[in-house]
Amino acid sequence: MVTNKFYKCKVCGEIIRIRYQVGYCEMPINVYCPKCNTHFSGVISPKEDLSILFSLNNVIECDEVESGGYTIELSPEFLTLKYQINKSKLFPGLTPFMRFRLKNNNDADDETIQRTIHLAIESNNYANQIETLFNLLDKNDIPLIRNYLNSINNEYISFFKSRSNLDNISTKLDFLLFIKQYTKSLINSSLLDSTHSRINTLFESLDKIRKRNDYNEYKRLLKFLDQGDYFSMMLNEIPKYIVNFIDNFKQFVPCYLEYKNASDIDYSEIGISSADAGKMCELYSNGFELLGRIIDPSIALDNLLNHMCFDNFGNGRTNFANELLKYTSKYNKVKHFSELDESVCCSFYRDSLNNRIRNPIAHNDWKINGLTQELTFTDRVKGAETKMYLTELVFKCIEVFNSVFLAWEVIYQLFKAKLVLVERVNLNYHFK
Ligand SMILES: [Zn+2]
Repeated sequence: MVTNKFYKCKVCGEIIRIRYQVGYCEMPINVYCPKCNTHFSGVISPKEDLSILFSLNNVIECDEVESGGYTIELSPEFLTLKYQINKSKLFPGLTPFMRFRLKNNNDADDETIQRTIHLAIESNNYANQIETLFNLLDKNDIPLIRNYLNSINNEYISFFKSRSNLDNISTKLDFLLFIKQYTKSLINSSLLDSTHSRINTLFESLDKIRKRNDYNEYKRLLKFLDQGDYFSMMLNEIPKYIVNFIDNFKQFVPCYLEYKNASDIDYSEIGISSADAGKMCELYSNGFELLGRIIDPSIALDNLLNHMCFDNFGNGRTNFANELLKYTSKYNKVKHFSELDESVCCSFYRDSLNNRIRNPIAHNDWKINGLTQELTFTDRVKGAETKMYLTELVFKCIEVFNSVFLAWEVIYQLFKAKLVLVERVNLNYHFK
């Protein structure tokens, strides 16, 4: 059911006709005034009596106008038509859902929708679980972790519990493996196909290294990583960023559902009504900074794979840390090492980063045009301006998130190897 209502911007008085459709659960709405760029944020939610809860800040409902003003579509799940000048009372054409259906109409798409919506509905709950578990893991409070895991009840945890009785697993390592795998299964719908295939390549690369039967170099790498703070970031900073992303997962739903069509979208016409531009800038920037700090283990792994030593960049052994220090800019570091070798992960990281918007976001030097949803990023140091549609930034955020997840997986796999090879810890709990 489509609802049409008229609203007036509380700030500039512009009349806006809003056409909206309800989704599966309470979902966020974020759009901007076409005239004065004021942020309108709110929610759409189905109610038990089948009516719709719709609330939007900074606007007041008003009487219908015959002509003039603007019209906009709102949809919590699908990409939408941006503002149009409201020439007549009739708003012709298809709804966002019908447009989506015309492009995507097979069983695989239905499954993607269901899985994505499921994660959206549970996103705050899952984010909270992940936050709690990694917090307890970092504190190494095994009895509380066990109690907490026992209190959770869903199909994912049942699967893991059926593979291994919680009472039999007892060490911090066992719980790390359990919790990491559980986390991955909870948020699986936030991972792109390309991330899954990169993770498979990572497993193949680790197998190749193991088959060499030369554990000395592998151990040297693991000892080196142990001296940095990568393993502590695995338990702390990285989960915090992942929790923040998943907590805001609802805003990403339209872009996840259209990810495979991203290159065919006419961004001048099609926009998004769920994403808050400020939140997207924050998540993009946090992911960018974090990625710059956690890619070193991936670089070391590439060296080991390609040049037999983690600190051999192609011309004999060198000082790994000094080699990395040559790149003061995180972007240049990622770019340089992704081009150096056939890499497990680095080229994937590089493609998700856009250096031209990083500094402007860090200085809060960006603005949005509410009418076109075009963002302008101003780099005052370089005297450069970069423009990007909000929808494109949302896609970029998804890619940076996936890069961080992959870098997390690299560190986690190396950490496991360290415990088994270097520290000879016995594993009670086995799961890849
Ligand atoms: Zn306004």
